[in-house]
Amino acid sequence: SLEDIKDLITFSRERGSPFTIRLVKGAYWDYETVEAEQRGWPIPVYLKKAESDANYENCANLLLENAKTLRVALASHNVRTLAAAMVKAEKLGLPKKSFEVQMLYGMADPIKKAMVELGYRVREYAPVGDLIPGMAYLVRRLLENTSNESWLRGKFAEGQSTATLLKNPSIGLVATSAEIPKIKQRFYNEPLLDFAEKEVRQKMLKSLAKIQATFPASVQPYVQGQWQKSNTILERPNPSDKNQIVAKLQMANIELAEKAIQSAFKAYPTWKKTSAESRAKLLDQLAAIMQRDRYDLCATQVFEVGKPWAEADGDIGEAIDFCKYYADHMRTLAVPKKVGHVPGENSQYQYRPRGVSLVIAPWNFPLAILTGQVAASLVTGNTVIMKPAEQSSLVSLGLMKMLLEAGFPSDVVQFLPGYGEEVGEYLVNHPLTAIIAFTGSKTVGLHILKQSSQVQPGQHHLKKCIIEMGGKNAIIIDSDADVDEAVDGVLYSAFGFSGQKCSAASRCIVLADVYDRFVDRLVEAAKSMITAGAHEPEAAMGPVVDEEAQQRILSMISTAEKTCQLLYKGNSPQSGFFVPLTIFGNVDPKDKIATDEIFGPVLAMIKAKDLHHAIEIANSVEYGLTGGLFSRSPAHIAQAREELECGNLYINRGITGAMVDRHPFGGFKMSGIGSKTGGPDYLQHFMEPVVVTENTLRRGFAPSEVE
Ligand code: NAD
Repeated sequence: SLEDIKDLITFSRERGSPFTIRLVKGAYWDYETVEAEQRGWPIPVYLKKAESDANYENCANLLLENAKTLRVALASHNVRTLAAAMVKAEKLGLPKKSFEVQMLYGMADPIKKAMVELGYRVREYAPVGDLIPGMAYLVRRLLENTSNESWLRGKFAEGQSTATLLKNPSIGLVATSAEIPKIKQRFYNEPLLDFAEKEVRQKMLKSLAKIQATFPASVQPYVQGQWQKSNTILERPNPSDKNQIVAKLQMANIELAEKAIQSAFKAYPTWKKTSAESRAKLLDQLAAIMQRDRYDLCATQVFEVGKPWAEADGDIGEAIDFCKYYADHMRTLAVPKKVGHVPGENSQYQYRPRGVSLVIAPWNFPLAILTGQVAASLVTGNTVIMKPAEQSSLVSLGLMKMLLEAGFPSDVVQFLPGYGEEVGEYLVNHPLTAIIAFTGSKTVGLHILKQSSQVQPGQHHLKKCIIEMGGKNAIIIDSDADVDEAVDGVLYSAFGFSGQKCSAASRCIVLADVYDRFVDRLVEAAKSMITAGAHEPEAAMGPVVDEEAQQRILSMISTAEKTCQLLYKGNSPQSGFFVPLTIFGNVDPKDKIATDEIFGPVLAMIKAKDLHHAIEIANSVEYGLTGGLFSRSPAHIAQAREELECGNLYINRGITGAMVDRHPFGGFKMSGIGSKTGGPDYLQHFMEPVVVTENTLRRGFAPSEVE
């Protein structure tokens, strides 16, 4: 605050006319600390009340020293704080009217009276407007002013002595650390970058320039421990600037796919015997490399798939989390568990890997999803064929290089950039494929499920399919929802990364009595979202992934324009594959725009009679991935918990941005098998449980069991 005040003083001088600075302390203290803890960021506020008090006095002193340049308003109910300001003003020879004191209507009235009698200016303030937000404000203020350490509580409720109440907060003050101490054995998510920090922004700009200088990059397959060549070239343009070729992909063919699976199959017996601890350590190493190269990895995504900065960083953070989480979890799962409790028999429940894991990934979380599937396969002892999405092959090449640098043996992962319908299809049908870890669209997912159920000649196992597919996710807005929070939550969930998240909100179901008010607010807020090239720091929304997606979404919009009420259509640049942010109103729940996955920045607003009706609409689609409710009613929240059909339900927050460990992720119905990535049940899919039972009775003698 002190630094900000200095900046404002300079600004006010340059401007030549004063403005008011209102100095407060302690406001939103809980919010600030909780938010920082959730993000793993240093706490931006003082942890001790005395530190805040001392800082306030320093800030007030600085403001008073510049009372000719600024108008000073000191908002406080703390007599020590106000007294210190009065003394400072007197020492500076300032008249009593040179600053104002601000206090809340109905609070600490005797102090206000005394200040006025002493000749100071006191402004009494009160919230105005809607009742519910006003009440919420007053409740927060009451909590703050009655907290254990509040001056008002000390004076009026506890009758503390004047000497205590007027003690200088700086005396004997020991500063606390802003870092939150870590608890051993707990999983901590990788903190995301804070692009509000100048230094962070500069590093990102540097990486953007560095990565851009390498274009067009060359992407080659890596099979049998060697980089391979192919004459089939696919050019990958930058979605924000279609004239820039980001990468030239050398696409693997079936012959190479065959070599890859033979190589992975050959490497399997040795890899499965590598200890779980060694495999886990390699994943930890991979995470460390990602942390080291974080900005470059972000920059690659910005250019290759058109992710705005913060979205790209979220993807890298999640990839790091997957490595660390699965490494830790494997260490636990690797220990055989004793089952049964009878003397003379030892039964052990343990896991074995399955064989060659075919990883088929989408482009929308290009590093995170691919890393999650590859890391889970490897740490459980399977060898891997990594088939990335065509649109994000450069990001995947980065993962392949990092796997090698981390020390994974060169034949344990085969990297196969190629067409899904060609090499993907070939390997899905291959008798040596043991696991198919697929994330992508419903059409392809269902096709893979069908194909993999056909037993091929020479196949000695059933293929294990982990299939994660699309969504048509809804957020319900209840009549008593906090509209400010709901508008933010819906906008970000619907339009973050241009709606290209499987978890994105594409339906917003609003209860009839708040529908008009909510829609007005949402549309106004949507107008402030800037659509720009993903490399621009101000881009709230970037392009969609490629021309095919752009044309498909534009055509869905123009069809919907014939049947639905167009509430808002934003602008979009012409340089790349942009689609305007689009909101339709009063959409019929059966309209295609409300039932089909669009995977773009299109939101359907649907009106519901009551919560029961809203839940019925939400559940009426074939998907069941994410869902949300904004409500203040405990009964409605309980009803949604019970009745909303989705794998991940979010209450009073956005519905995207699942984090490893905090929100294990995955849906059911036509959204997938619900295996919950980043959760305690995921790795088990990549292994087969085996029970080994030994009769330990020897000629009538049973040795005691070691538990
Ligand atoms: P997609 O289905 O088009 O492609 C996914 C992958 O499948 C790609 O690597 C592609 O090359 C491959 N593929 C295509 N045809 C194939 C075939 N016949 N055989 C084998 N492989 C084949 O999906 P996409 O466009 O990359 O991703 C977007 C979709 O993914 C959306 O539907 C989205 O909802 C879904 N998704 C789901 C989750 C989840 O966790 N449920 C997460 C991210 C994305």
